[in-house]
Amino acid sequence: MPANYRTLLDRTKTEIREVDVLEAKEMLDRGAIAIDVREQDEVDQGIIPGAIHITRGYLEQRIEDAARDKTAPVLLYCAGGVRSVFAAKTLRDLGYADPISVAGGFGAWKSAGLPWRMPRSLTPEQRRRYSRHLLIPEVGEAGQHKLLEAKVLLIGAGGLGSPAALYLAAAGVGTIGVIDADTVDDSNLQRQVVHTTDRVGMSKVESARLTINAINPDVNVIGHETRLTKENALEIFSGYDIILDGTDNFATRYLINDACVLLGKPNVHGSIFRFEGQATTFVAHQGPCYRCLFPEPPPPELAPSCAEAGVLGLLPGTVGLIQATEVAKLILGIGEPLIGRMIMYDALGMEFRELRLRRDPQCPMCGPDAPTSLDEIEYTDVACMIPAFAMAH
Ligand SMILES: [Zn+2]
Repeated sequence: MPANYRTLLDRTKTEIREVDVLEAKEMLDRGAIAIDVREQDEVDQGIIPGAIHITRGYLEQRIEDAARDKTAPVLLYCAGGVRSVFAAKTLRDLGYADPISVAGGFGAWKSAGLPWRMPRSLTPEQRRRYSRHLLIPEVGEAGQHKLLEAKVLLIGAGGLGSPAALYLAAAGVGTIGVIDADTVDDSNLQRQVVHTTDRVGMSKVESARLTINAINPDVNVIGHETRLTKENALEIFSGYDIILDGTDNFATRYLINDACVLLGKPNVHGSIFRFEGQATTFVAHQGPCYRCLFPEPPPPELAPSCAEAGVLGLLPGTVGLIQATEVAKLILGIGEPLIGRMIMYDALGMEFRELRLRRDPQCPMCGPDAPTSLDEIEYTDVACMIPAFAMAH
């Protein structure tokens, strides 16, 4: 017998699991994902905190980005619990093991007195400030919210961290952490543009905070006036979504890599040497990590100090902005990140080349015998800034 709407609904209900709103709340509290499949005008009236909004019409296309683990339970809700039944059936067809419809939907949730919130919207000032973002469909209001909610850690407020700080702040990245133990020196000012002449002697973290908030008071700057060590790296990194490596020494570079691999955080990497720079994005297990390329630091005699190496003051501006662009793309989920690719920039020839990078299946950090903590790893400082390709050749 051909199904009509009623029989289709009844039959579909027998095929999927339903829970009431109280059970749904408990599952959410235990970390289950909730997908709101209502239309935008419905969501504008209120949403369950933590829920991801994907309208029913885009569910098939977008669910795999929102809920990557198909073995985990996924709660679906609509206004009254009907559309979510069909949405759950769709997820079942897509291979999800445990799609669950919330009976009664958002209406029942509100009636039960459970927490809900109005969706975030930009203030009139933010609409003006970010208007050029709002005009781009790939960014838009949803993207600007992603930027405002993102937490990015800059390792070093130096040559690479400076341009990244300026532009990430201007773009509206809502939380920028800065870790640096140094004070501003007058020899920094040739390239470290987040600092100013009148701040020589001030801590770099404080100087960066002043500049970032002068550009954009929306940004919450978290200062870490300390050296990054294996004792504090995991704890500091765990408060951030993305790590930008603007460091100038190998010990820290390996430490950043290892901590990011352990925590599964993207590590946006840059380095500079005289007239040449390079940038890539390491995302553990999606591409190589730094140790896949260079399992061990070079011997000290092959790694010149910063003072010996020198750098064209303009070079870190280009490289730091490639890194900042990568960070913004990762936050927005758009474009092709530099995973498995390294951009090599030659300022004198004004050439960009691209190097394909491969994972090392036996990598000491992301391979099968990788350590599960930093405890046993030695990080010895062997100075700075020689780029990886100079080491490799
Ligand atoms: Zn690796």
